[in-house]
Amino acid sequence: MFVTGLRCFRCGAKYEMDPKAYTCPACSGNRGDEGILDVQYDYSAAKAMIHSTLHKNGRHDVFRFLPLLPTSKTIGVLPAGGTPLIPVSGLAARLGLQSLFLKDETRNPTRCLKDRATAVAVTMARAHGYRDLYCASAGNAAISLAGFCAHQGIGCHVFVPREISQTRLNWLRRYGADVHISTGNYDQAYDEAEQAGAENGWYSRNCAFNPFLVEGKKTVALEISEQLGWQVRDLIVAPVGDGCTLGAIGKGSRELNLVRLTDRIPRLIGVQSEAVQPLVKRYHGEAVREDGGTTQAESIAVRRPRNALRLLYEMRASHGHMLAVSDEQISAAQRLLAQEAGVVSEFTSAATLAGLFQLAESESLANQSAVLVITGGRLDCDF
Ligand SMILES: *Cc1c(COP(=O)(O)O)cnc(C)c1O
Ligand SMILES: [Zn+2]
Repeated sequence: MFVTGLRCFRCGAKYEMDPKAYTCPACSGNRGDEGILDVQYDYSAAKAMIHSTLHKNGRHDVFRFLPLLPTSKTIGVLPAGGTPLIPVSGLAARLGLQSLFLKDETRNPTRCLKDRATAVAVTMARAHGYRDLYCASAGNAAISLAGFCAHQGIGCHVFVPREISQTRLNWLRRYGADVHISTGNYDQAYDEAEQAGAENGWYSRNCAFNPFLVEGKKTVALEISEQLGWQVRDLIVAPVGDGCTLGAIGKGSRELNLVRLTDRIPRLIGVQSEAVQPLVKRYHGEAVREDGGTTQAESIAVRRPRNALRLLYEMRASHGHMLAVSDEQISAAQRLLAQEAGVVSEFTSAATLAGLFQLAESESLANQSAVLVITGGRLDCDF
């Protein structure tokens, strides 16, 4: 393992590697941003290993990138990652782009990018003797955890918002999860989960609490680069809720540059819904009001984002851009993805294409190339 320690995004405090570490103790009790820890590596030592591993390694799941992960063992969890990167020339032409690719995360075991983080969480939990995991979720993280725990035969406790759809509940019950439906929204379910997790000594699969989960999510960026022959494209677009996913993509992209597999980093484009866009506002230095708007983009309807500092750091490092789109724009994009790319995405994930159309109105995308991360593919309704 090449992990050298953990560093707090909020106060900068450094800690030794501890597989049971969650958020920064020095920052606990603070209002506002939590002290999310970041896993640090010795990149000069990892460099030789990552190059040789990629040559002789037959794995195609997230553990293909073991030298850049916080575990040295694998235990045979459901295979997450290894998803296709699909060139879509018709959509590229419509946007005036030189090329466009979809990273099809709908092909993961539970149809969502969340499986990458779950694979690492379940591996670490089992390696350290836990028999139960928990998470708070608008649906996808919970379903992901439920699937992976079912496969391992271990306990799964999920905390979901009141407004969760029947389809998502059915998935959870099929997998046999212990489901707690909150009387409130995702943010309330999150607080309930943390309390129950601490009381019962379960292992956390909350991505903005357990620092090791972002490491699983970042493998999507590592894969994209490898699939493109280490030729970095200009833009990577992803939907933003808590900020873990796009923050992880930023981290993974910087790491490939640090180990000299790539010669630059892509610009990150983060997309939120108009109704719930706290991170767009914050990135642009505007006041964030807690407004009561609703959106069908449930997987990113996060009013109190928990990994804001990480996301903002990566956005600045990549000279990225954040924007918000309406549900009408997302709906049109979801239809286009099916009709012109043959990919059925969940509503939230189509925000990427809607965001790129909006970006094309404010700046020229000529001679640029982009990757959309199609984060999930489970539909909650007819579309
Ligand atoms: C969780 C999720 C996101 C956003 O990820 P964050 O880490 O919360 O920013 C985007 N799309 C889908 C489908 C998701 O489930
Ligand atoms: Zn701290």
